[in-house]
Amino acid sequence: MKILELSARAVSEKSISARQCFACGGPASTGAGEHVAPKWLQNRFHLFDQRLRLLNGTLIPYRNLTVPCCKDCNNGFLSRIESAVQPIFERGTVDTRDDKLLLGRWLSKILIGFLVKETGLLLDRGRPESGPIVPASFLEELSHCHFILQSARKPTTFRCLHGDLPFSLYFYEIADAEGDEGFDLSTNIFGQSVAIRAGRLGVIFVSDGGLQMHAGQRGPYELSGSVVNGAQFRELAARVHYKATLRDATHFYMTFENDNIMHVEQMHVESYSGLIAGSEEDRIFREWDERELSYALVAYTRCDKTDVYDEGTKTCKSTLGPLLRGH
Ligand SMILES: [Zn+2]
Repeated sequence: MKILELSARAVSEKSISARQCFACGGPASTGAGEHVAPKWLQNRFHLFDQRLRLLNGTLIPYRNLTVPCCKDCNNGFLSRIESAVQPIFERGTVDTRDDKLLLGRWLSKILIGFLVKETGLLLDRGRPESGPIVPASFLEELSHCHFILQSARKPTTFRCLHGDLPFSLYFYEIADAEGDEGFDLSTNIFGQSVAIRAGRLGVIFVSDGGLQMHAGQRGPYELSGSVVNGAQFRELAARVHYKATLRDATHFYMTFENDNIMHVEQMHVESYSGLIAGSEEDRIFREWDERELSYALVAYTRCDKTDVYDEGTKTCKSTLGPLLRGH
């Protein structure tokens, strides 16, 4: 089968509810499945018993956070993705387009893991008589994320509208702080974003075809590539997660594949709600709202509302001030 067929097979409500392999849609092996947060990361940061809250409110230990996977995918291209990304975290810097693509694949894998896990839980509680409960647009977005993941199986050329690669990626060098755990993970599955800090490197990824980077090449306050501390990284993640939920457009893709290569091309951007009122311009992001941002800041930085929001000026406070003086 062609890679694009495997991925289309994996991205269907039928495959997800039948607990087929999340990466190829084939029969899953009987083992534990694929860990959404990879084992090397769990080992290094002692995460096995730490718990993460899922959308339905359940707290799940990292060691149980797995998705169905087959042996071929697990021991094959997925394990290659894991080994390729470890040196980047050991080094703590993102230097080349290759580094970005390797991180993009790895973060796609983690994001797809979360999306499939959450969708599987929704389908468990679904009422068959009411028809599909996973919107078609969601599966379409999932398939865009798969293009990035599947590019690890076969040499792939990307032609994108906004940059080199079909996603947004920001990265930060994290200055060690006393008593800092060194690990942080947050996702927003509605915005299709995931942020991970592991040791000295923090990365934030959005599967949005590169729209957020088109709006701001270096992300919030243009700080991608800078040195920040752990708390500042959480704030940056919250801002990117929030912006990701404002996205009101997607891409139309053309794909091509033969025995040797895969080609993935963005043809145009499609706005969900059409033109911005009173203008000729497509709406790509809904309007930014500081109060909405404050909810994201509270959720992701674990600070009190009063610490993140100024009722007087109706704006959010920022931990990033000291870094911005030079700007
Ligand atoms: Zn598979």
